Amino acid sequence: MNKKDIVIFGGGPAALTAAYFLADNNKVIVYEKENNIGQKFLVAGKGGFNLTNSLVQNELAKKYLPINFLDKAILEFDSTSVRNWLMEIGIPTFVGTSGRVFSIKELKPIDVLNKIKNGLLEKNVKFCINQKFTGFNNENKPIVNNKKTISADYYIFALGGASWSLTGSDGKWVNSFIKLGIKILPFQASNCGVNINWSDNIKSFHIGKPLKNIQISCGTLKARGEAVITKYGLEGNAIYSLIPSIRKQLNLNSLSKIFIDFKPNNSLKQLLAKLGKSTSSKDYKKIFNLNSTEIALIKSLITKEDYLSPDNFVKSIKNLEIKINSLRPIEEAISTVGGIDINELNSDFSLKKFPHIFTIGEMVDWDAPTGGFLLQGCFSMGHHAAKSIF
Ligand SMILES: Cc1cc2nc3c(=O)[nH]c(=O)nc-3n(C[C@H](O)[C@H](O)[C@H](O)COP(=O)(O)OP(=O)(O)OC[C@H]3O[C@@H](n4cnc5c(N)ncnc54)[C@H](O)[C@@H]3O)c2cc1C
Repeated sequence: MNKKDIVIFGGGPAALTAAYFLADNNKVIVYEKENNIGQKFLVAGKGGFNLTNSLVQNELAKKYLPINFLDKAILEFDSTSVRNWLMEIGIPTFVGTSGRVFSIKELKPIDVLNKIKNGLLEKNVKFCINQKFTGFNNENKPIVNNKKTISADYYIFALGGASWSLTGSDGKWVNSFIKLGIKILPFQASNCGVNINWSDNIKSFHIGKPLKNIQISCGTLKARGEAVITKYGLEGNAIYSLIPSIRKQLNLNSLSKIFIDFKPNNSLKQLLAKLGKSTSSKDYKKIFNLNSTEIALIKSLITKEDYLSPDNFVKSIKNLEIKINSLRPIEEAISTVGGIDINELNSDFSLKKFPHIFTIGEMVDWDAPTGGFLLQGCFSMGHHAAKSIF
């Protein structure tokens, strides 16, 4: 079988997975614009470093938006396949809290990256660093560093989204694809904090305080977990999961509303029953086991009359409305949506207009929550594109 020439632009997880599964049967070269590959992968490692999630098959596929877009790729290469693949290259994993999958403690993020890189070098994948894709020439061939034209049988672009630009994923590739006639959607933040106008009391005394074991809802989405009060608003897993709904409301109305349930394990009826004969607001903290921050938050967001009315106070424990003004800036976000419009793609992630050009990973307009789902999406896309070529 004749080996095909495959050129991959970008050195992130989507690119590296595609390279791995193509390398046995093809000549593969990876072009990366920075000094090193996988810089955002390493940044991810500084936080939780969830390589994937223990959800498998359809339950895993349900985590991705737009609905059905990534189904095939996820079902073919789900978290079990990812963990088997990582094991094959010397990266054992374990399932931690909330189903998040981590590499074993002995392997630091840089070790994980190096093991993937070594696996590729053993398969003769070539890395060209400090080589930036700068556009397409008149024959629609990619150009590197504004001078070198690259010829190959297939091109795979995995240039990332637009947050954390210091890692190399600066989203500056969009104009080259627009010139190629590809529709690009504006980047927007995902898995990010939100801006809220806190009262002076909250700003003075409650910054950095966590809200634990809460449920937050927005539109049709609900999330249980934790959020932290920051000087600008809220951060944390419980908020990140709601960003698709918050973003949709903000895009429509320039304002979004979330609702916090501080006692998701108790019904409104159960909480009202706890009130008994007490009518004094001084007893709220003890009766409902609320901490000072929770009390202060409720107090700052409802009217004095509602606060002093025990029945209305209980309603706000279950359903405290908070207005969101905007999302945090793209640069800070864990991931972005926007980029290549999925309608430009065939089911194998090749461009309908140029079927020998593939686009994968975060540069394509899809969304998923934190908890390992982002990297899983990138691994699955890389595998799926590779499988359609080899
Ligand atoms: C703080 C943080 C924590 C995270 N934690 C997790 C986590 O725990 N679990 C999880 O699943 N996900 C996590 N993520 C998200 C995850 O890291 C990304 O979704 C993932 O890295 C995207 O992979 P990618 O291959 O699409 O692109 P990227 O990893 O962004 O890689 C793109 C590469 O392309 C290169 N490039 C860009 N433009 C050019 C060009 N013109 N020419 C050549 N090369 C170019 C870039 O330098 C970069 O190396 C986290 C992200 C952040 C920022």
